[in-house]
Amino acid sequence: MEPHELTLAQALELLAKKEVSSVELTQALLARMEATEPSVNAYLTTTPELALEQAQAADQARAKGEAGPLCGVPAGLKDVLCTQGVRTTCGSKILENFVPPFDAFLVARLKQAGMVLLGKHNMDEFAMGSSTENSGFGPSHNPWDLDAIPGGSSGGTAASVAAGTSLFSVGTDTGGSIRQPASHCGVVGMKPTYGRVSRFGLVAFASSLDQAGPITRTVADAAAVLQVIAGHDPADSTSAPQPVPDYSAALGRGVKGLKLGVPAEFFVEGLDQEVEQSVKAAMAVLEQQGAELVPISLPHTDYALAAYYIIAPAEASSNLARYDGVKYGMSVRREEAGLLDMYLDSRSQGFGDEVIRRIMLGTYALSAGYYDAYYGKAGQVRTLIRRDFDQAFEQVDAIVGPVTPSPAFGLGQKVDDPLQMYLSDVFTLSTNLAGLPGMSVPCGFSAKGLPIGLQIIAPHFAEETILAVGAAYQEATDHHHKRPPL
Ligand code: GLN
Repeated sequence: MEPHELTLAQALELLAKKEVSSVELTQALLARMEATEPSVNAYLTTTPELALEQAQAADQARAKGEAGPLCGVPAGLKDVLCTQGVRTTCGSKILENFVPPFDAFLVARLKQAGMVLLGKHNMDEFAMGSSTENSGFGPSHNPWDLDAIPGGSSGGTAASVAAGTSLFSVGTDTGGSIRQPASHCGVVGMKPTYGRVSRFGLVAFASSLDQAGPITRTVADAAAVLQVIAGHDPADSTSAPQPVPDYSAALGRGVKGLKLGVPAEFFVEGLDQEVEQSVKAAMAVLEQQGAELVPISLPHTDYALAAYYIIAPAEASSNLARYDGVKYGMSVRREEAGLLDMYLDSRSQGFGDEVIRRIMLGTYALSAGYYDAYYGKAGQVRTLIRRDFDQAFEQVDAIVGPVTPSPAFGLGQKVDDPLQMYLSDVFTLSTNLAGLPGMSVPCGFSAKGLPIGLQIIAPHFAEETILAVGAAYQEATDHHHKRPPL
């Protein structure tokens, strides 16, 4: 097997047995990047020298018996995560030259665990989008079909893991941005419970929804990465104080006796037939393994999209006020222009169209006289959506369904139709509104060879249930062994 085809677990095993060194593995992945990046464009910044230094240090640490849980494994990270000394753009021209003076909490954890940083992954600007076409630096391409989108906003991250230019990674999910690109790229993407992973150092989009989580080739690898990044952080007041369980212990639990809810609202008109078939076949596999499929209803699902597109832009409009051309980021200063001109010039030249659209929507929804009608109402709808899930989880242990309405669409196909683009996330948004954990697991391919994902959703802090279901599914199937023809 080529180094770029390895799972995280396989790489760690080879490193532990000294069959490969971290330097060798890193060199192999850097060579893979040279071969695939011209066509995939998963990276915005590469750090080959830093990676080789870190790889050497990892090899030395391992020789001394001081190997952390990810010691010597090379990977890139979504460019929404602050990395000390390494440019962090968030996919935006406004942060084109921003070099953070600190690491995000989870980046510090990954470094402590011994990861080797290859660079930063492309994404939709400020994580707003479903295709990476909103990146300020050109889109990423789907490794399974270079004319298709990889999904978004963590599209570069999912594409990199699929292409083998990262042996694992971390993305973020505000309305589906881990699970949707994972499903389109045939990899595993897990959004943990809101608060499970600290948001410190994660460039904010919508603070009540944002959550970071693993993107990997297997469910077992997702458990290993989550183990490293989960946990309480006093620097993030919304990070959860709950103890972190041993996630790997959940992998072998199986699904016998588990009740899996199948929401009627997730199998509706507009769901692509190939997606429906693959997802139903996956559910049948879980049933054969001893799970019981239970029809359920999440009656307010229809309102999730509308509520999300009030709440997320409202929070974004507030969070993005900090890019004013004064403190950091792009600053456009014309001679003889005043302070207001500097704000206006910096923001209108620095932000792309979608970001500006969201700031306008959000500012409108929060403005005096409209606040109650829009933001207030959306908050009430959010409560109803959360109650739907609470009621469902009185009957079932987890919920299964599709991740996206269709396999990856073509680059350019929806870029001029924001509403169509927003609809990519109809099945993922509601879990963010409710703060629940969810995962996408590869469950098949379309006739054109594009990957399809199965979504698994569980109650708050029941990541272990998701891991158990996902691992049982991967035990019985081999979709996750397939690699794109790159
Ligand atoms: N596609 C959704 C949006 O554009 C979700 C993005 C995300 O999860 N970051 O807002």
